Amino acid sequence: MIRTNSRKKYKLRPWVKIGLGLFSCSLVLVLLLSFVFTGGQISSILPWGKVATLCIDPGHGGYDVGTIGADGSYEKDINLAIALAVGDYIEEHEPRIEVMYTRDSDEISWPEEESEDLKARVDFTAENNADYYLSIHMNSQEDTSQYGYESYIRQDDDFSYEVSRRIAQNLDEVGWEYDRGVIYVEQYPLYVVSHQKIPALLFEAGYMSNYSECHDLSQTKYQNLIAENIAKAYIELILEDQGIEDDTKKD
Ligand SMILES: [Zn+2]
Repeated sequence: MIRTNSRKKYKLRPWVKIGLGLFSCSLVLVLLLSFVFTGGQISSILPWGKVATLCIDPGHGGYDVGTIGADGSYEKDINLAIALAVGDYIEEHEPRIEVMYTRDSDEISWPEEESEDLKARVDFTAENNADYYLSIHMNSQEDTSQYGYESYIRQDDDFSYEVSRRIAQNLDEVGWEYDRGVIYVEQYPLYVVSHQKIPALLFEAGYMSNYSECHDLSQTKYQNLIAENIAKAYIELILEDQGIEDDTKKD
């Protein structure tokens, strides 16, 4: 039987020990300093870490169906489908942007009362420290010939203004040329936008009172087309806003 002295075999030389010790100490120091300088959000400085959080709010839900379309479909369902598609696209193409939803199904987590409902959405955004807020809605009008999408923002919100223009540009490029422009909540108050302290955009994706637009908005392919172009605008402008390189542009 041959005895091997494995302990001896792996004994480290003193200079290696000192080196490893120094390396561990500096690693701990770097991590500690990063933790302090990023306000505890160390992941934000890592290349694979989170750069910002987008809160997506599908309008209405549960007891509140929203507007009822010309074909009988509910606004809350189309809002949810587009909202989830925006989030899915972002999570797939730019996982450094964290996505959260005020609701991700027809279930709601707040009381069935309009003012509390709206407040809960704004509170949720603040409690979760979201950096950007996007609400998805559908419009309706007595005049059923009206069609197209609108962006509601605060007048001082340059970021959401840029996002709304980028969405319009993206949608124009794919032939969905129905931009009705930007409306300021100072003229047309909307609780969930007016009460946000962060960049907040409420996107009215189209008129469900218009039969033809309602028909399009009910189809998955158009929901995805709208969602994808909203998501692309957010990815580009969030990364730009955070001073981070856009990896999606490389391919
Ligand atoms: Zn609505």
